[in-house]
Amino acid sequence: MAPVPSVRLLILGKQGAGKGTQCARLARHYAVPHISTGEMFRAAEKSGSEFGQELARYMRVGDLIPDELVVAFVVERLQRDDAQRGFILDGFPRTANQADALAKMLDPLEIDIAIDLQVPTEVVLQRLASRRVCRECGFNYGVGVPPKVDWTCDLCGGEVVERGDDTAAAIERRLKLYEKETEPLVVWYLTRDKLVVVDGVGDPDVVTARLIGAVDRRLRRTPGEGTQK
Ligand code: AMP
Repeated sequence: MAPVPSVRLLILGKQGAGKGTQCARLARHYAVPHISTGEMFRAAEKSGSEFGQELARYMRVGDLIPDELVVAFVVERLQRDDAQRGFILDGFPRTANQADALAKMLDPLEIDIAIDLQVPTEVVLQRLASRRVCRECGFNYGVGVPPKVDWTCDLCGGEVVERGDDTAAAIERRLKLYEKETEPLVVWYLTRDKLVVVDGVGDPDVVTARLIGAVDRRLRRTPGEGTQK
């Protein structure tokens, strides 16, 4: 069997597009770490530190954490040994400043692929309304996998809860910020010939297969050949 290629990949997509679920699967497939800034910040909040509580104040209302704080976290994370072969970035970059900072962090290397995981707003709203997350292992139910009807995690037995920032007001704020701050990055990566568009609607296994197919095709491609997909 051919060895699985390494990849430096990031994923763009609205809240509820299924990024977390799909990135975990891609990370397993390509044997690289799944680096989710949202997970990093939720872990900091859970640690109970003063700093974690400061981050939680932004998250609770759906605001973005200031770029300098986010970038400092990602710089530290990408320097670790396990990220040297590649990584899957989930939830970063979210602003033009962060995209710039990422390009500088990686220089002289670059990101291989920026995926735009597309899901219509009405679908993400439905998914977010039924999203539940395990307090212990962070596994997401309802977004990318079927909704949870009881409150115990199938994987670790932990308590399954609603996410603190899945309130109607915070969801509205996050989607607005996505449109204003993050969506422009689609063009940023398109002009740098890194963009791959993937349809995120449908059965999670089908979406995973679409993603792996699109990534593998792009990795085999020579630069400048073709455009998206
Ligand atoms: P997520 O799990 O990706 O939806 O992120 C949850 C929350 O963490 C967001 O609503 C933001 O408050 C914060 N956050 C995560 N990643 C970033 C980022 N790259 N820039 C700013 N804030 C972020």
